[in-house]
Amino acid sequence: MTPLGHLSVSYISARSISRISVPAVIIGGFLPDLDFLFVFFDWFNAYHHVTTHNVFYIGLAALTGYFLAEKKMRTTIAGSLLMGGFLHLLVDSCMDNNPTNGVGVTLLWPLYEGHFSPFNILSDSGVKAGWGEPLKMVKPMMIVVLYELPLYIATAILFLKSKRISIN
Ligand SMILES: [Zn+2]
Repeated sequence: MTPLGHLSVSYISARSISRISVPAVIIGGFLPDLDFLFVFFDWFNAYHHVTTHNVFYIGLAALTGYFLAEKKMRTTIAGSLLMGGFLHLLVDSCMDNNPTNGVGVTLLWPLYEGHFSPFNILSDSGVKAGWGEPLKMVKPMMIVVLYELPLYIATAILFLKSKRISIN
């Protein structure tokens, strides 16, 4: 899934739950793809969906958020970061068109290197080097964008609706 897709999933999910921090869910949903900072390094493809796509990384992010947050917001922030992170892992495990380093995410890495993917709605992009050739991955990502289009629209509607309510 693209970063915009993850943002949409985080936003729509967070808006459906009360007593949760929408910004923290969005940040939690973004953090697993922080490894894209290294997309132009040769080793990136082997580690994407691995080092930052597991329960320990998500837990560490939530724990960090817990201690950085104001005391009265700690549980809310940590829970929101966890929610965003787990949604990210779930979506990436079901929408992966780059099987060159395994389909899905390594949920229990580094304890277990197997990939978790209960099902995958995308097919192989055909780019054999995967993220090893990041510019060639742009075209297969267009298919992903088509899948995500309804999420973008729903996010825009929810966002605009919330702005209208807060103005009145
Ligand atoms: Zn991801």
